[in-house]
Amino acid sequence: MLSTKRKTLLYKSGVEYADFCLNHVEGCAHGCRFPCYAMMMKKRCGIIKNYREWLRPKIVVNALELLDKEIPRYKHKIKFVHLCFSTDPFMYKYPKVTDLTLKIIERLNKDNIRCVVLTKGIYPKVLVNTEKYGENNEYGITIVSLDEGFKKRFEPYSATYKDRIKSLKYLHDKGLKTWVSMEPYPTPNLVKQDLRKILKEISFVDKIIFGKLNYNVESSQSGYNGDFYQGCANTVIEFCRENNIEYHIKYGTQKKDNRKTEKIFIKNIVGNLRLKVKQPTLSI
Ligand code: SF4
Repeated sequence: MLSTKRKTLLYKSGVEYADFCLNHVEGCAHGCRFPCYAMMMKKRCGIIKNYREWLRPKIVVNALELLDKEIPRYKHKIKFVHLCFSTDPFMYKYPKVTDLTLKIIERLNKDNIRCVVLTKGIYPKVLVNTEKYGENNEYGITIVSLDEGFKKRFEPYSATYKDRIKSLKYLHDKGLKTWVSMEPYPTPNLVKQDLRKILKEISFVDKIIFGKLNYNVESSQSGYNGDFYQGCANTVIEFCRENNIEYHIKYGTQKKDNRKTEKIFIKNIVGNLRLKVKQPTLSI
């Protein structure tokens, strides 16, 4: 696997539901074709030339050294650290990435910093060892369909939906907090599907974030937009209320944004203890 060195790691994220973030890999072998916003930005900044280069990830070999320097500086400002917005922390079939991610989670948790993790890969079972990895972490997967044909087309090198859900369910069954990012949710011209069926498959999770698909020409020319996404958002909200799941609908998805739900990852933590009981669903 290729490697690189960086000067800084932790940064304050501009994503509405996030706090601090880090990306300990440059590039991502999952090669999403929605398209991947992170890849678009790296191309625009001239950091990578093309899709093929994006598919050859470089691991940040000094990530742990950087954390040792940066944690004391930011510790009192950090509410939680999101892994990751510009790469995948459990990149499928990249054990070196998994190893480094586990070390990073352990390092942050050692200083009582919670991690909110998101992957299109598979969670390693060792995460259930709450003596090593904190019990306040929140583990998420991206699921925008159950159609594996769609996955092959749009997320060609990631883990199957089935395996992602299975690995997340394992963590849930062991008492850890889990969530799903349903973003970017595709329009019906890309895949015909029943949103409620997908929601039923992931009804065990504690939190759901739903968001529309952006930057996709086929989708934006399809005529599906405002009404379609408002209908989807209503379905997600209704389902979450019925099932006592917290939710946030990403800005720009509904006709009118609801900002009250954006702090979805800040609630439910008391000191260093993870609440065992589900809290009431956030109201709109
Ligand atoms: S998993 Fe995330 S970072 Fe990786 S290619 Fe897909 S969208 Fe981009």
